[in-house]
Amino acid sequence: MKRQYYSDPFFDRAAQNRNVQIDISVTNVLIISLEQKFYFFLKKEKKELALFPIEIFDSLSMDVSFLGLSEEKNIWTAQLTKKDVENVSEVLGNGGFYDMRDLVDELTNEQGALLAYALGINKWNQISRFCGVCGSKTKSKENGHSRKCNNSKCSAIFYPQISPAIIVLIEYKAKEGESLCLLNKRKLNKGYMCSTFAGFVEIGESLEDAVVREMKEEVNVDVVNLRYVDSQPWSFSSSIMVGFVAEVEDMTFKVDGEEIKDAAWFSAKQIKELTSKNQLILSKPDSIARFLIETWVDNNLN
Ligand SMILES: [Zn+2]
Repeated sequence: MKRQYYSDPFFDRAAQNRNVQIDISVTNVLIISLEQKFYFFLKKEKKELALFPIEIFDSLSMDVSFLGLSEEKNIWTAQLTKKDVENVSEVLGNGGFYDMRDLVDELTNEQGALLAYALGINKWNQISRFCGVCGSKTKSKENGHSRKCNNSKCSAIFYPQISPAIIVLIEYKAKEGESLCLLNKRKLNKGYMCSTFAGFVEIGESLEDAVVREMKEEVNVDVVNLRYVDSQPWSFSSSIMVGFVAEVEDMTFKVDGEEIKDAAWFSAKQIKELTSKNQLILSKPDSIARFLIETWVDNNLN
């Protein structure tokens, strides 16, 4: 099966190095993201990932987090504020900050996965600077993979958290004729943007419970025959997307009018035709939503 964009199971996270002090005699390189954005520093011409020697940033107060090993390099990441960027602009040199989601076609899957991992770690460290128990400041531990409360009477330890979400392609299997899939539909200036349905898993729910509840809430359908398809790390919302296909036994639906404004049934042939004429735009190519739709279309074209 195709590996989802933003996942790279072959990257060596080298968790054994998370309790090791930074040794600057070893090759250490740094990936830089910008505060509160999906922006990473890339080389100007080729939009390739720019890697900096870690000791260059000694003068800054920011935390660096260890990501893992690649080609015998220790890969670290740090998130800069706009002020930091001004301070090290000479070091940064010829390049700029780019939104990683706009560069899906230019970055390899491995680079995309590394940036998404860096983004997730940087974001979590940034929003976890204060203790959720007593409100004191926290300190980075395990080279960025945990944080400990500075208050010795508390000393609470926190680990990175992700919020699982389900994403679902709803299908109607016709007894005769073509099967159909129900897609979320948003009007563009020209044509429509279509996607699958998704929602966060709530406390006390299984993934399957969340699929059934979300589909009832968003389009008022009762789904059956849930099948797990694949998952995708989604650092943009500190999440992991868990992809399902689910069936309905009748075609009636009603959008909630809030999260989902419009939806429609499509056959595989219609999706193929409309997308080829640019009358229908599918979710971005880096998303599992796109994968679910394209896989369903391929399986139902004949
Ligand atoms: Zn505390």
